[in-house]
Amino acid sequence: MCGIVAYIGKKNCKKILINGLKRLEYRGYDSAGISFLNNSSGACRMKVVKEAGKIKELEEELKNIKADGHCGIGHTRWATHGEPTRINAHPHSDCTGNISVVHNGIIENFQEIKKELKRKGHKFVSQTDTEVLPHLLEEYNSGDLLVAMQKLVKKIKGSGAIVAISSENSNEIIGARLASPLIVGVSKNGNFLASDMPAVLEHTRNFIIINDYETVRLKKNSVEIYDKEGKLVERESFKVNWSISNAEKSGYPDFMLKEIFEQPRGVKETMRGRLANGNLNFDEINLSKEQIKNLDKIQIIACGTSYHAALAGKQLIEKWAKIPVEVDYGSEYRYRDPIVEDNCLFIAITQSGETIDTLSAIRESRNKGAKVVAITNIVGSTVARESDSVIYTHAGPEIGVCATKTFTAQIIVMYLMALYFAKIRAIIGQDFYEKVIEELEFIPNKIQDILNRAEQIKEIANQTYKFRCFLFLGRIYGLPMALEGALKLKEISYIHAEGYPAGEMKHGPIALTDKKTVVVGIMPEGEVYEKLLSNIQEVKARKATIFSIVTKGDNKIGQYVHYYFEIPKTMEEISGILSIIPLQLYSYYIAKNLNRDVDQPRNLAKSVTVE
Ligand code: GLU
Repeated sequence: MCGIVAYIGKKNCKKILINGLKRLEYRGYDSAGISFLNNSSGACRMKVVKEAGKIKELEEELKNIKADGHCGIGHTRWATHGEPTRINAHPHSDCTGNISVVHNGIIENFQEIKKELKRKGHKFVSQTDTEVLPHLLEEYNSGDLLVAMQKLVKKIKGSGAIVAISSENSNEIIGARLASPLIVGVSKNGNFLASDMPAVLEHTRNFIIINDYETVRLKKNSVEIYDKEGKLVERESFKVNWSISNAEKSGYPDFMLKEIFEQPRGVKETMRGRLANGNLNFDEINLSKEQIKNLDKIQIIACGTSYHAALAGKQLIEKWAKIPVEVDYGSEYRYRDPIVEDNCLFIAITQSGETIDTLSAIRESRNKGAKVVAITNIVGSTVARESDSVIYTHAGPEIGVCATKTFTAQIIVMYLMALYFAKIRAIIGQDFYEKVIEELEFIPNKIQDILNRAEQIKEIANQTYKFRCFLFLGRIYGLPMALEGALKLKEISYIHAEGYPAGEMKHGPIALTDKKTVVVGIMPEGEVYEKLLSNIQEVKARKATIFSIVTKGDNKIGQYVHYYFEIPKTMEEISGILSIIPLQLYSYYIAKNLNRDVDQPRNLAKSVTVE
C-alpha cells in the first residue's frame, strides 16, 4: 500500500534512501524506516533505523548514526496489520538480525505461516503480516538469498512487493513482486528498486518493470530478472519524461482520476483473504455464530459518502440476512438520546477513522452498552481503537479529498457482511451464496470494463457541463448511488445537485425540472427498471436533458434519453457498485470542464475532525 525504495551503487545510500522516502511522503503514511549495510572494520553489519510518524524524525535519528554503506532499503508504511508503532514499522528482521525486509501489501496466509515458524523456534516482535517474510527467508536461505526469495514467493498468498538485503552479501539486493508495483531504476552510479518512480526520479529516468511473481537480483552494475519458474528473462529498460508531480500521480492529471482508476485493485484487495475458494471468511467481525443468529437489529452510523455505503449495506442486510437495519448520521444520532436495545449490533463506517461525529456516536452507544464494529481504511485510527472489532477496507491511501476508491471498498465490505450474516442465519441457500460469491469475484473486471470506456463519459460531460441543476434519480439499489453521484458533483464542481428516489419526484422535486435541468437516471436492469423508465419520461416531458446508466444490451433506452452509458450485467442487488463508477467519472469530467481543483475542492477536508 505504501512506499519502497532501495539502492545499491557507488554512492552512500543513507541520503538516497531518505530523499526517496521523502518523495513518497505525499501519499500519507504512518511510519518509516531504513536498513543498510555498514562495511566498516572489515565486517559487514546490518543497521536498522525506524520511527513512527514523520520522515523528519527518522532523519533526525539518523544524524547520529554512522552510515558508510552503499546498499540499503527503505520503507514508508501504511499499516494494514498492526498499529502504526515503531515496532511495527519496516524494515523487519529475522532472528539473527542478518536479513532485513521491507514489504508493500498484504500477506493473506501470514497467521498459519507464523504458527509454523513459531513451532520451529522463530521469535516474533511485531503484529505485522510482513514479519513472517524475513523469518521465512532465514528458513529457506542456504547461501543464495534469491533462491530463498523464490521459495518464499511460492509459499505466500496475497499481494506485495518485497525487497530484502542480507549482511552475508552486501553486493546485492533481492526483490520480488506478487501483485504490488515494483520497478527497477537503472543508472551509471548504481541501481534502484522502488514501488513508485518519484522515489528515484532525481537519479534516473531509465526504468524496468518487474511483473507479478518475478524476482530480481540487483547489483551495483547489473540487474537480473527471473520469471515464476526461476528462468532468467531479458528485459530492456525504457525512458520516462515525467515530472515528479506527474509521476506521483502515475501520469494521471489528478489524484482523483488516479484513484477512480485504482478501484478494481481497491475492491480486489478488500476482498482478498475474505473471499477465497468460493468461501467467505469474516472472523474479524468477532461475533460468535450464536450472536449473529440472535441479532434483532443493526444500527449503522456514518457521515457523507460513508453514509451512502451504509444505505447500500442496509438494503442487502435486510434483504439477504433479514435483520432490520437503521442508518443514521453520526451528527444526528448522538444528540437524539438514542435507544440502544439488547441484541443490536452497532456498525460505524468512516474512511479516515477520525470523523468526530461518528466517533462521538460510537462513544455514546458504547456507554449505553452497544457492541461496535468499525469499518475504516486507516489502521490504528481512533475509531479502530475505540471499537470492539474492526474491518479494514484495503483501498490504499486516498489523497483526493473526494472519496472514490474508499467508497467502493466500503460497499464491497457491506455486500460481504450481508452475505456472511445471511449464510450464518441460514436465510439463503448454498446455491445463492455461491452465485453471489462468483458475481463478486467478477466485480473488479467489470469495473475495469467501465473505466476502459471513460472517454464516453467524458464526451457526455463535455456536452452537459454548462447546466446548473442536476437531479440524480434511482430506486432501490440505485438510490444510494444517486445520492452519492449528486454528492460527488456538488463536492468537486460546486453545481447544485440533488439525489432523489425516482418515485418521489412527483411529490415535489419535479417542479424543479425544466430545460435547464439534467436528470441522471440510475436504471440498471431489474425489478424497478420499467418504473424508472416512466419516471424518466415524466422529466423528459418537462424538457429536462436525460442521461441514463443502464445495463449492457438495453436496446430500447436510446429512444427515450439524450445520453446513456452501459454498465456490465451483474446481479441486480450488487449493481450499485458498478453504477457509481460512471457517476464518479461524470462528476470528474464536469468539474474539469469548469477548471475546478478536483483534488482539493474548496471548503472541504479529507478527515472531518470538527463537529
Ligand atoms: N501489510 C504490511 C504492514 O501492515 C505492509 C503495509 C504497507 O504496504 O505499507 O505492515
